[in-house]
Amino acid sequence: MICTKEMDMAKGTDYYGRFMDYMKMYHENDLDGCCAQTDGKGDRLKRPSQQADPDQYVHIVEERDDGIIVSGFKMSITQAAYADEIFVLPTRALMEDDRDYAVAFAVPGDWEGMTLITRPVWLREKDEPDCAPFCKYGVSDSVIVFDNCFIPKERVFMCGEWEFGRRLALLFADSHRHSYSGCKPGVSDILCGVTALAAEANGIQKVSHVREKLSEYAGAAELAFAAGVAAAVFGEKTSSGVFFPNTIYSNVGRRLTGELIYHEYNTLTEIAGGIGVTLPFSEDFEYAPLKEQLERFIVRNPNFTPEESLKVWKLVENVGASPMTAWYEIAGVHGGGSPIMETIALGIEYDYDTRKNLARYLGGIDKEFDDSPDIEREPTFGDGLMTERQDFKE
Ligand SMILES: Cc1cc2nc3c(=O)[nH]c(=O)nc-3n(C[C@H](O)[C@H](O)[C@H](O)COP(=O)(O)OP(=O)(O)OC[C@H]3O[C@@H](n4cnc5c(N)ncnc54)[C@H](O)[C@@H]3O)c2cc1C
Repeated sequence: MICTKEMDMAKGTDYYGRFMDYMKMYHENDLDGCCAQTDGKGDRLKRPSQQADPDQYVHIVEERDDGIIVSGFKMSITQAAYADEIFVLPTRALMEDDRDYAVAFAVPGDWEGMTLITRPVWLREKDEPDCAPFCKYGVSDSVIVFDNCFIPKERVFMCGEWEFGRRLALLFADSHRHSYSGCKPGVSDILCGVTALAAEANGIQKVSHVREKLSEYAGAAELAFAAGVAAAVFGEKTSSGVFFPNTIYSNVGRRLTGELIYHEYNTLTEIAGGIGVTLPFSEDFEYAPLKEQLERFIVRNPNFTPEESLKVWKLVENVGASPMTAWYEIAGVHGGGSPIMETIALGIEYDYDTRKNLARYLGGIDKEFDDSPDIEREPTFGDGLMTERQDFKE
């Protein structure tokens, strides 16, 4: 909504009304969507139009009166296999030569000319009737291949407006970074809870280093959550009327969680011990000749029954040493853009110059504090189109 409005204002296109019609249909049918932004990308140091294989980025092959034909690869698209609608957006800033790559559209999840190659993450246990709640649900990601796929005009929301590639890419990335400030603290909560439970099952819950490490989960989760709240409170109303979260708070919240994710898993490993990867299989605990011995072996804290103890260590395995662990770790680093991407965003958006001028004033180099320096930063299309900006500095 934000970008279609801005493109219409700048270029006289008619995307906003088209998108609103689509959005009404989406709401009326209570649909569920996913975002296909990340392209195959091929040679990372080359722009889309410089790639040896043009399909490394989704692009327009042909423009027709009734729509467009597109080809190319998207990858790592979570939820595509069970989404009603797939939204396709550019993944990066574009130059004039990349015009064909400036394309955004939405298609139903089973659209002709589009193939999903899907990889589910949770590989065992979920089909067992008495599996633990944590194992009941998994997630899947897809490579999406568009092969000369027709997209009807009413579903096309960008077609060649390369100047808005960065804007649209960042609208998704920044809102995703904002949502990470909510969902990632939830992951920290799970890790914190499992670590506390494992400490209790080990009988070490009162030991000082355990208390200190648990507080690190609290610090990460609550700081990221606070950044998310601040991003919402200090958001901006765009020309489309849609509010958008403050990008500085969204980026610092997301970067914090991305940088800490492996540390958080490491804390669970340190406190739970090695049993997460050496626990005998559940079937062994049911095997009559071994059952009595294993039930004695598994109890470390007499306040836990053998059955409870086994469930604790099974949970430690599932949370800390399963295919889902690797997914959460790598999603924690890369989902919504890796920490380096937030660093780049801060390099563009954060006002370092005012702070430097403050230091110059405090150091006696300047007589006056210049709090509004001319900041030379790359222009972002959409800048200046905001209708309201809450002045958080005041
Ligand atoms: C679990 C998971 C779920 C995801 N879900 C989705 C989803 O639903 N939708 C979606 O669109 N995307 C999704 N993603 C993709 C995610 O946004 C990307 O993984 C992320 O943006 C990093 O891109 P990449 O994986 O291609 O890594 P790369 O871009 O290959 O990055 C690898 C390294 O190369 C560096 N690099 C890359 N290009 C350059 C360059 N030009 N110059 C210098 N250094 C460079 C990066 O900084 C990084 O250090 C998901 C990813 C994961 C892991």
